[in-house]
Amino acid sequence: MTTQRRTVYDVILASNDHPDVETVFKRARKVMPNISLTTVYRSLAWLVENEFVIQIKGLAAAHFDRSDIPHSHVSCPSCGVIHDVSYIDLKKQIEDQLGRTVSHYDLNIYCTCVKCDK
Ligand SMILES: [Zn+2]
Ligand SMILES: [Zn+2]
Repeated sequence: MTTQRRTVYDVILASNDHPDVETVFKRARKVMPNISLTTVYRSLAWLVENEFVIQIKGLAAAHFDRSDIPHSHVSCPSCGVIHDVSYIDLKKQIEDQLGRTVSHYDLNIYCTCVKCDK
């Protein structure tokens, strides 16, 4: 992995707020002041392609997260805030129904957050 990719990956590993490209860029620049936005874009694309990083689906803007801790995302349709959820039971239920092992899943889940509900 190149130093730039490593820097971008480290930013993702250190972030638990599902940053977008601009946020990753700002954080990467603190470590590597001469990194360009284009490099951050390309590094993220490479990291997603090579499964180090996931791009969260079903959102207007691209948000990123580490891939090494399996979990899913629930996003608020009003403000776009993203929460982590895991549902091991669902995986197990599907496996029980199919009699097969689920390799991975990709679901979009939406739930209006507490702030938007007020
Ligand atoms: Zn909300
Ligand atoms: Zn997440």
